[in-house]
Amino acid sequence: MQNKTKHSYKTYGLLALLLLVAVFYVIQPYLSKKPIVPPTPVQSLKPNITQVLVPEFSPDSAFLFLKKQVDFGPRVPNSPAHKKCAEWFGKEFKRLGLTVVEQKFQAAHYKGGTFSGVNIIGQYKPELAKRILIAAHWDSRFQADKDTKDQNKPIDGADDGASGAGVLLELARTLAGNPVDIGVDLFLIDVEDQGDDDGESETWCLGSQYWAKNIHRPGYSPYYAILLDMVGAKDARFYKEGISREVAPQTVEKIWDTAVSLGYGEYFVNQDRGGITDDHLFIARDAKIPMVDIISTPNDGQHPFGNHHHTHADNLSVIDKNVLKAVGQTMTAVIYRTYNGAL
Ligand SMILES: [Zn+2]
Repeated sequence: MQNKTKHSYKTYGLLALLLLVAVFYVIQPYLSKKPIVPPTPVQSLKPNITQVLVPEFSPDSAFLFLKKQVDFGPRVPNSPAHKKCAEWFGKEFKRLGLTVVEQKFQAAHYKGGTFSGVNIIGQYKPELAKRILIAAHWDSRFQADKDTKDQNKPIDGADDGASGAGVLLELARTLAGNPVDIGVDLFLIDVEDQGDDDGESETWCLGSQYWAKNIHRPGYSPYYAILLDMVGAKDARFYKEGISREVAPQTVEKIWDTAVSLGYGEYFVNQDRGGITDDHLFIARDAKIPMVDIISTPNDGQHPFGNHHHTHADNLSVIDKNVLKAVGQTMTAVIYRTYNGAL
């Protein structure tokens, strides 16, 4: 009896304890003021894919692609050099295994007349939904406004035009030699650089304005969209540009962090700069695609884009392969690290 009673107390005590524990577990989340969040994954790399190495980007090959464009002569829309260069781009992209869209359009020049332009998009693995867009304008300016002589003659545009396009062609060659399962669109934009320095921003970037309203791919929404402009001159400095920071702040940080991780912090400077009218402005505004502009603004004050900008000094002698390497290798890392799930 005594034992039984003792046993009963023990049982009730145990049951009461279990009940208390159960109640505690039920109400415990509501006692805490912290939001209930799932645990963070230990690492962001995709466990179920084979990781790929980031291949080497060749600045020598990029330079040859750049020089070839300059050798055609100034690529001013409506000129024979412009037509020949456009044909060469299409052939090169196809030779490197890309699926090419050539988007022809007409655009009014602010000085009168009409330009026949062509946007050229080289699509790597067009069947894949996850895509990275890397763009650069390829036309060169019709006049040397900022020069002291021959102001009415067109410029070579070795940096302003051919450098970005040269990097894009070398990226195409790199992808062809180092297959990876991610879609990449290499977009050569036409008629960017024929605008009015004293006029409306809409007089610039006519090819991207056309494309933003006539996108080559239905429902296009790239994972990253990046613009390269003036990415080859020896004094290049890439600051975090204002519109890019506004529309795609996280992408800006990822690109600059990637460049620094590769040892290119000298060129990719961890400082903010103001907004610049460039193709990314219209692509963000009209196509609603947040795009980051990697554009060299080495100087403060009167000549922000460098002393060669819109002068006849923008020729092959201003090009530095180290700058092509910094930008091209950073873009290569963005592509392959995104595939790896590391970016
Ligand atoms: Zn320009």
